[in-house]
Amino acid sequence: MFLELDLEKIKRLAERNEEKNWRFRAFLKFGDERKIDRIVHGLYQEISEEIDCTQCGNCCRELRPLLAKKEVKLLANFINMPEDKFREHYTEFNHDENKLRLNKIPCSFLKEKKCTVYECRPSDCRSFPHLHKRDFTTRLINVLQNYSICPIVFNVYEQLKSEMRFR
Ligand code: SF4
Ligand code: SF4
Repeated sequence: MFLELDLEKIKRLAERNEEKNWRFRAFLKFGDERKIDRIVHGLYQEISEEIDCTQCGNCCRELRPLLAKKEVKLLANFINMPEDKFREHYTEFNHDENKLRLNKIPCSFLKEKKCTVYECRPSDCRSFPHLHKRDFTTRLINVLQNYSICPIVFNVYEQLKSEMRFR
């Protein structure tokens, strides 16, 4: 299977394919959810094994992960900073999700392409790009947002079009 890994090209293709991607989203909404989850999980496993995230790090340059309360404390401890100072320096409130999130893009903890708080990175980072989860068809807006920044999401979505014989 050919995989597109060039981040610039993926960004350009995301613009070019925008209309088709929204049509595919509408098509998936009427599909068999369980069957689609099965295909996505298989594609995710196959494709993520071929992509080395340590050579990419693009999600850490483009997204601000959400933080559970206990994760704020853990991260603050990990970098030896009082929790209130950590909140002030590294977080902001996300009103849509009613949660704190890291406040900088690229992430303050990204050095070159590596996470410097890897052992206690937030669960939102651990589970990105979330394609192992169930109910893929209920999260398609997020999938489309991530399509332009994550080679795993891009390639899974493109292969899914082929598997579903979508034109
Ligand atoms: S905490 Fe680590 S994994 Fe999460 S966005 Fe920042 S650098 Fe990336
Ligand atoms: S999850 Fe996607 S965007 Fe993040 S490092 Fe891996 S391939 Fe890159």
